[in-house]
Amino acid sequence: MTAESTTPAAPATNAALYEAARSVIPGGVNSPVRAFGSVGGDPVSMVRAAGPYLTDAEGREYVDLVCSWGPMLLGHNHPAVVDAVHRAVDAGLSFGTSTPDEYRLAELIAGRVPVERVRMVSTGTEATMTAIRLARGATERHLIVKFAGCYHGHSDGLLAAAGSGVATQSLPGSAGVTEAQAAETLVVDYNDRAALEEVFAARGSEIAAVITEAAPCNMGVVTPDPGFNRFLREITARHGALLIWDEVLTGFRASDTGYWGLSGRPEGWTPDLWTFGKVIGGGMPTAAVAGRAAVMDLLAPLGPVYQAGTLSGNPVAMAAGLATLQNATGEVYDTIARRSQQLEELLVGSLTEAGVDHSIQRAGTLFSVAFGTSANGVHDYAEAQAQETFRYAPFFHAMLQHGVYLPPSVFEAWFVSAAHDDAAMDRIAEALPHAARAAAAATA
Ligand code: PLP
Repeated sequence: MTAESTTPAAPATNAALYEAARSVIPGGVNSPVRAFGSVGGDPVSMVRAAGPYLTDAEGREYVDLVCSWGPMLLGHNHPAVVDAVHRAVDAGLSFGTSTPDEYRLAELIAGRVPVERVRMVSTGTEATMTAIRLARGATERHLIVKFAGCYHGHSDGLLAAAGSGVATQSLPGSAGVTEAQAAETLVVDYNDRAALEEVFAARGSEIAAVITEAAPCNMGVVTPDPGFNRFLREITARHGALLIWDEVLTGFRASDTGYWGLSGRPEGWTPDLWTFGKVIGGGMPTAAVAGRAAVMDLLAPLGPVYQAGTLSGNPVAMAAGLATLQNATGEVYDTIARRSQQLEELLVGSLTEAGVDHSIQRAGTLFSVAFGTSANGVHDYAEAQAQETFRYAPFFHAMLQHGVYLPPSVFEAWFVSAAHDDAAMDRIAEALPHAARAAAAATA
């Protein structure tokens, strides 16, 4: 039997592919939000990507406003990235040793943001999990504070997201997470300084770290209130806890220096630990934990905090990340900022014309839309959940029908790339009025 004959032919339609996938993959997807659970309908299977476009199994082309959930800063299949990956593949898929490119990528990251050490891992989940372990090892404390609505990957302790303003007790956010694990995570409302003061007053000597998204993008985008991030830096330092700055999503995307460039840098402070992912892998599985040498050098083999990975620093992934960051020039960030602004204006114009109450939530070049929120915008998870979420499904499907692929959830940021050109923007402009009218007609 040849290798080819062992591979069954794939069904040809999106619906048939989903049906087939469901028989062998839980829910038919390898990451839950891809299942279209909150917008309904069958997920679309993509088979090709180029520049700002995705092509599905039925040959339909979409302007992509997901960009693989962030990594494709330069657009899909950027020639320099593809070329670097081809060369890396030709040289060998994985060596299980140190390689020159992992050192070069670490240097490139350290050249953009003030970190002294970078450890490569394969996913953002691993990066935040490692940062938490490091913080506990460094402080010899056990509690972690996180904010409701912030997502830091799916490690047990970080799934605890439920909780009141000042959570004295967290609830597991997933079956399979024990109450004991959840109890090690204190959940506080985002942008709520008083709640954080209270938590530190009650349990400050037990708190190893506060982990925060540099700007939350996983309850839709929520802009940190002015000075809120600086307050996090100040209160953690005051109590001897570490500040873990999760830039897995915003890193090297919200600006050339991530969201830190819009927050910590102008305010003159740095976090203790950072996490990166997405853009630093350019579409390949790479992430990193980084920070001050005094903390990072606690990692094995130098220190007592263990962390490892068979494919960490994989040479093909390093090549994709290096080529992406090397080509992420000022011009690229200017283009993304301009296109993001243009997209916001088109969106606001269409929604306003259709009479849909909304607010735009922004963090650098990232933004999302929230419905029924024009009076105050969205400042925390409760407000994000209280919006008119029912308007998003018809909005999403109208965009899809008109050839634009949006995130299949209202609680996600919209991503543009440097490849989004006039033709792509024109297609979005044509689709938006249909989607806005569909949102206007929606009922709860
Ligand atoms: N942290 C943030 C802020 C994220 O947005 C994500 C994923 O979207 C993660 C961590 C987890 O990254 P990964 O999906 O690579 O595990």
